[in-house]
Amino acid sequence: MQRPKYKRIILKLSGEALAGDKGFGIDTNTIASISQSIKEIQDLGVEVAIVVGGGNIWRGRSGKGMDRTTADHMGMLATVINALALQDALEYYDIQVRVQTAIEMRQIAEPYIRRKAIRHLEKGRIVIFAAGTGNPFFSTDTTAALRAAEIEAEVILLAKKVDGVYDSDPVINPNAKKFEFLSYIDVLNKGLKVMDSTATSLCMDNEIPIIIFGLSDPNNIKRVVLGENIGTYVKE
Ligand code: UDP
Repeated sequence: MQRPKYKRIILKLSGEALAGDKGFGIDTNTIASISQSIKEIQDLGVEVAIVVGGGNIWRGRSGKGMDRTTADHMGMLATVINALALQDALEYYDIQVRVQTAIEMRQIAEPYIRRKAIRHLEKGRIVIFAAGTGNPFFSTDTTAALRAAEIEAEVILLAKKVDGVYDSDPVINPNAKKFEFLSYIDVLNKGLKVMDSTATSLCMDNEIPIIIFGLSDPNNIKRVVLGENIGTYVKE
């Protein structure tokens, strides 16, 4: 059997990753293929916790002229919609899943309780962390960093549309150079759009490595878990 490099991971799926080519909303084929890939890494014995974004539905900064806190509350609710869709898709593959929300909504999901989350993971269930950190003015990238520190995940897998971190936008500049390795401080100093600075600092302070890779091929999740060097690795 192939041996995974990690025992416990946080997989951060941006809202965009769930929208497929549509760019907005939830694409059922896309979440089905992501779910299949998640099943494959779970079958390798990896404990998988997922943080979902909400940008495919709503982002706080979309609410121009709106009260920012209200707009962020809407963003956090968007992540819950995604979490429920993902839960449903994973269950189709007979995976046991628990959604935990940072804002209580007990009729829909469990509230976030760290010890319970860890117990679920130990029992081979997938835990989806929804509603971000529960606080406005934060992002789901920061949620991934926070939850990774809390549950002692070894790495954050940041699945993106682009297949790594570049020195300029590869869509605009065909000569853009992809970084294989980066330090947290490089990310912060160069203003690279890996994660927002709050999330990057939290990873730096707690020494949580981040691997940024493309989800155009959902099989990439497994390749990363098996230790293949695809994408960009951020540490130290
Ligand atoms: N959000 C928030 N607090 C958090 C996490 C998220 O207020 O701790 C809100 C914020 O408005 C954000 C939205 O939820 O824009 C969706 O999350 P994010 O933009 O991180 O999603 P992604 O870009 O990963 O799809």
